[in-house]
Parts: sequence; C-alpha cells; structure tokens
Amino acid sequence: MKPFLDPEEIWGFINNVPASKEKVRDVIAKSLDKNRLTLAETAVLVNASDPELIEEIKQGARRLKEKVYGQRIVLFAPLYVGNLCTNNCAYCGFKTSNKTIRRVTLDHDDLVAQVKALEDSGQKRLILVFGEHPKYDARFIAESVTTVYSVKSGRGEIRRVNINAAPLDIDGFRIIKDAKIGTYQIFQETYHPETYAKVHLGGLKRNYDWRLTALDRAQEAGIDDVGIGALFGLYDWRFEVLGLVRHTNHFEAVYDVGPHTISFPRIQYASQLNIDQSHMVHDDEFTRLVAILRLAVPYTGLILTAREPAAIRDEIMQFGVSQIDGGTNIEMGGYSKRKEHEEQDIDLEQFQINDNRSLNEIMNELIDHKYIPSFCTACYRLGRTGEHFMEFSVPGFIKRFCQPNALLTMVEYLEDYAPADTKIKGYQLLKEKLDEIEDVAFKEKLTIKINQIQEGQRDLYF
Ligand code: SAM
Ligand code: SF4
Repeated sequence: MKPFLDPEEIWGFINNVPASKEKVRDVIAKSLDKNRLTLAETAVLVNASDPELIEEIKQGARRLKEKVYGQRIVLFAPLYVGNLCTNNCAYCGFKTSNKTIRRVTLDHDDLVAQVKALEDSGQKRLILVFGEHPKYDARFIAESVTTVYSVKSGRGEIRRVNINAAPLDIDGFRIIKDAKIGTYQIFQETYHPETYAKVHLGGLKRNYDWRLTALDRAQEAGIDDVGIGALFGLYDWRFEVLGLVRHTNHFEAVYDVGPHTISFPRIQYASQLNIDQSHMVHDDEFTRLVAILRLAVPYTGLILTAREPAAIRDEIMQFGVSQIDGGTNIEMGGYSKRKEHEEQDIDLEQFQINDNRSLNEIMNELIDHKYIPSFCTACYRLGRTGEHFMEFSVPGFIKRFCQPNALLTMVEYLEDYAPADTKIKGYQLLKEKLDEIEDVAFKEKLTIKINQIQEGQRDLYF
C-alpha cells in the first residue's frame, strides 16, 4: 500500500494558510457545529499565534466538551508485558543499544500477579504494552490478552484489553482480533519522514511506510477499533497535528470510520535519551495543541497519560479528554510490589512518568472536580462499535447510555474498592447526578440497577 501522507502538502498548508481573526472564529464555529475540520482549517488554528485567539481556541475546545461529552472520564491502566526490543528509537529507554536496562518479559504467573494487583485496586480496563521483538509475535500478544481476561480476583475482572505493540501483518492482526482485543494502538511517533529516519536508528521500526500503513492492515484484518498518536517533541508540533488529522481523514475516506482514539505523548526523560531538543513542546504549546486537536477531530476519543504532571492533566481534561490512566506504574512487574509514591526504578522503565498518584487518589480528584470516573465497557461488549461517533452524533446517547453506565461502574468501585471518605464523596456525586435526570422512568431503571449492584450483582449496563 502506498503511503497516503504528503509532507510537502502539509507544509504547504502551514506556510500558506493565514490565521485572521475572522477565519479562526469561523473554524471554531464549524467545529462547534460538530464538523470535523479539513487540513486547511486545522492549519488556520495551528497558525493562530495572537494570545486572544489562542484563548478563543481553548474556550472553543471547552465549549465543545461541555456541549457534547459531559463530565465523564474513562480510566485505564497500562501494563508493560515485555521490554525486549530490537529497535533503536533514540527517545526510548527500551532501545536495543541501552545495555543498562534490565530486560524482562512477564511469564504467565508474573502476568497473572500483575493483573490481580490491578484488579484489587479497582481497574477494569488495561492497555498491554510490548517492545518490538520476535518473541512478541501475534500469538504471544493474543495469549497475553487471553490470560488477562481469565484472571478474576474477588469481584475484580478486566473487561477490556487494549494493545500498544509493534505493527503486524494482516494474518497477525487476524490472530489478535480473535483474542477479542479492544483498541490496537500504534503511534507514528513523527509523521515527518526525515525526522523519522533520524530518530529510528535500527530494527524494523526504521521502515516509515510499514508503520504508517500498519493500521490499514489492522482494518483489512477486521480490526476497526484503532488508535493513532504522535510523540510530541521530535518535530514541529504543528506538522504533527496536521499529520494526525491527515491520518484521520485517510481512515474516514477508506474505511468510513475514523480512529477510535488519538494519543499525544510528549517526550519524557528516559534512560539514555538521545535526541535533538530543539522541538521540545512547552506546556503552553502543549495545552494549545490539545485544544486544536479537540476542535479538529470532535468525535474522536483523546487519551492523556501519566507522562504529564497533574496540573497539565487537570487543564487538558477541560478540553474533552475522554480517557486518562490512573494508578500508573510502568515499571516491569511494578504493580504487584507497588507502594504508594515509591521511587521509580528507571532501569526497568521505558521513560519517567510524572503523575504517580494511586487510582484512588485520581478517583478522589475526579469526584472533587465533579467528573464522573468511568470504567464502562458496555458498547464494546454489546458490539456497539464506533461508540465515540455515536456519543457525538446520536442525540441523547450520552444521557441514555454513557453517563448512566459511568455511574454504574463508579458504584461498583465505591462498593468494592473505595475507602470510606471516597465512598461518601462518590455517593454524594451520584445523588447530584441522579437529581439532574428529568426522565422519571429512566431514573427508576437506573436506580434499580444501582440497588442491584449494592446487593452484590456486577457488570450491569444499558
Ligand atoms: N514498542 C512498540 C512501539 O514502539 O510502538 C509499542 C510500545 S512503546 C513502549 C509505546 C510508546 O511509548 C511509543 O510509541 C512512544 O510514542 C512512547 N515513548 C517512547 N519513549 C518515550 C519517551 N521518552 N517519553 C514519552 N513517550 C515515549
Ligand atoms: Fe522499542 Fe517501542 Fe521503545 Fe522503540 S519505542 S525502542 S520500538 S519499545
């Protein structure tokens, strides 16, 4: 398959599309009318540099969030399964040339222990992360997924397993699909081919086209739930934002469905980090680019991770981030030995994270800010794929499905895992949210399900 992205075209938009006040406002209005933006329109937003216009862009992202998404935040945790890697990515602690890092692959029992520890803290959704290595082929990844689904600890279970791993061929993706994965995530890192060549110094990942077309192969294999991303800090952030939009347009044009999620990791300190620092993205640029992404792809889930410190996370969540990780520990085997705020062991980690709060601390914080923490997996399990699009486009979908399901999973958490103070706060939030429901019959149905959870039933949803 031929790559679909033309760097010249992207630079053409950045260099030639002016960002007048009127144009910026028109583009924000188009997005608030629930339309995905074109490359030229996104270029208008990335080119807006006047502080007043930047504030309007952020305000637009906040309004879009309020108008469309409500107050839910889905929680997940990453689980690193193996850090063997044959690639040599300049930015990553797992690169093959890094001889100081301890290489670990969780065996079956290790994996079970990690999953149990995660379930015991209340997690329901995981993303399994792998280096790129012949050992981590499609069968190995599929077996890991099957193992994770099989682990039950008390009332705990993992209901959705996503993957972040190397590109596969079509047959490999078929094997993964059969294991019932959620989203398959592959980040292009940088959409700029020359920069890509500079930072990928060895191994299969050197092949830009193979990576860029990876999720097309996933689609060919029947996986329509895919996640894209760029690693911000490798190249000009404006180019990467347009690259992500181009990738999204490509999926829409060819498969009639955009990516399920977009991730925007920013480079963090890693063991033997070796990159040109000239494109590092400052906090103000970072918050601005996330607001632009929100407006550019209004129906796509946005994932923010613990790479970012709490203050940045709090600001960016206002722009309609749909998922965050909580209680994250990216040390290999780190969950089962975790102590609160333990020193990180950089010899076992891919990079350093900046938000070390436990899942319960994150729950408290979300509840304090009136967000509804959600572990919902209903759409995926009912075969309602493309739920982000439905949330966005089907009137009332969030009120009838997403918000009540979020509340039901919050009640499960409050009953099974929350300490007394979180439980009090959580039930207060539940009461406020129930009071807001005007449809009496629906409120009754929801209340019945809540009572059933309190009586010991689990996994109830609409
Ligand atoms: N090995 C697979 C790959 O490269 O796609 C999947 C896992 S890799 C461990 C997951 C992601 O971590 C990469 O795609 C990259 O975007 C991100 N990453 C690597 N080094 C990083 C760093 N120093 N700071 C922040 N994110 C980083
Ligand atoms: Fe390996 Fe992925 Fe790290 Fe590159 S980013 S060195 S492929 S684990």
